[in-house]
Amino acid sequence: MGNADIGLIGLAVMGENLVLNMEHKGFSVAVYNRTTSKVDTFIQGRGAGKNITGHHDLAGFAAALKRPRKAMIMVKAGQPVDDTIEQLLAVLEPGDIIIDGGNSNYLDTMRRTAYVESKGLLYIGTGVSGGEEGALTGPSIMPGGSPAAWPLVKPIFQAIAAKVDGGVPCCDWVGENGAGHFVKMVHNGIEYGDMQLICETYQLMKDMAGLSYDEMRDVFAEWNKGELDSYLIEITRDILGFKDTDGQPLAEKILDTAGQKGTGKWTGIAALEFGVPLTLIGEAVFSRCLSAAKDERVRAAKVFSGPTVQKPADVKGFISDLEKALFASKIVSYAQGYLLMREAAKEYKWNLNYGGIALMWRGGCIIRSAFLGKIKEAFDRKPDLENLLLDPFFTSVIEEAQGPWRRIAAAAAVNGIPAPALSSALAYFDGYRSARLPANLLQAQRDYFGAHTYERTDKPRGEFFHTNWTGRG
Ligand code: NAP
Repeated sequence: MGNADIGLIGLAVMGENLVLNMEHKGFSVAVYNRTTSKVDTFIQGRGAGKNITGHHDLAGFAAALKRPRKAMIMVKAGQPVDDTIEQLLAVLEPGDIIIDGGNSNYLDTMRRTAYVESKGLLYIGTGVSGGEEGALTGPSIMPGGSPAAWPLVKPIFQAIAAKVDGGVPCCDWVGENGAGHFVKMVHNGIEYGDMQLICETYQLMKDMAGLSYDEMRDVFAEWNKGELDSYLIEITRDILGFKDTDGQPLAEKILDTAGQKGTGKWTGIAALEFGVPLTLIGEAVFSRCLSAAKDERVRAAKVFSGPTVQKPADVKGFISDLEKALFASKIVSYAQGYLLMREAAKEYKWNLNYGGIALMWRGGCIIRSAFLGKIKEAFDRKPDLENLLLDPFFTSVIEEAQGPWRRIAAAAAVNGIPAPALSSALAYFDGYRSARLPANLLQAQRDYFGAHTYERTDKPRGEFFHTNWTGRG
């Protein structure tokens, strides 16, 4: 019988660094990779002299593991995960645990949990965030799957996870089957939103207020000392200050076409499935799509001219407004992300701990920020909070930000500078705080052309009416 605490399959960026992190925390690790030369390279290189054993086949890999075996897959998401599960089932035994730590779609994880459990094994689908550095020094880990597997992997996962507030691990059980990967997907969607919001403030500072890169770096440095204190603001500060070999800002030379791997799109699809107005993340995904149509935009730029940009008279005041608008929009984005998790939890009967999720995102991951501590406090105050915007702390921030936020959205529109995330967040907020929306007219339209019926404000809810709008028989 083997004595490795855990095994890991897939020695690419994430896998290698997770193995080193586990070993550093005192666990012995067995590793395997499809291209076996990578096993040798790793064992002789970064893994040399460490409590790590390399294997060229899965039978040897399985034999090296302590029972119940814990085999963690860190391969490319999609079919490779299914293929690896199939190969593992041939060498593992009932009671063993298969863990998928890649960016798998939560629906795949739901299917795989049921499949692996049907074979008598346990399954964990876990989100791992923080990129290469996080994997090595402490990622945020969001595990879901077979509840019986959690106590068995908990000591390893919590040891390797990022720590906040003097040692609290950014890792806890999320829920059954696909819950962990769902929460990781929402995390990635929120990451899309945060990045888009930052990019919009950058464009407004640059193209409207006329700030230089060094001035913008200083603004982000300042913002990082306040409510916006976060990893993404911090790296934006550094990126804006980074000079190319000719002394010019490197960011200015980067082609303006955004890539995406699909987790933002999945979040949008889930929002449409669950009927949740996830407008900000949706705009963030679509902004990347629009950016990718570079050639077409260049042609359109020759056809249409926008308004002449008016530099704000009070640049300092404008930057201060931007900071408040960014923070308020960010609150809306997280509120929407939490609504999506709540709806999914209802549908799939996951008992999600919303404060615990905020805590898991507090450190290690890409969206880590001081602000998540405020979200944790909000859910501590009221675990069944209906909407983050209704928490007294966030209500007061939004109240204070309303004026600046409206000025920024208006200035962007008047000056022809796109700010879809900032503006759609404001539109959502105005919709959310409206006791009456124009859906009365919409219902009339539906009834006019499709006899879809409507309810009346002067009759009890649940009573439906139809009108012959044209008078024709
Ligand atoms: P990756 O580039 O997504 O995948 C490369 C690994 O997958 C290699 O070990 C490769 O083996 C293996 N692989 C590919 N196809 C395979 C197949 N059909 N059968 C068996 N193995 C196969 O690696 P990564 O960037 O380290 O990411 C791993 C997972 O973590 C992915 O799901 C990714 O989305 C997720 N993730 C990545 C990051 C990041 O910052 N990179 C952050 C969070 C999560 P060979 O060497 O044989 O080709």
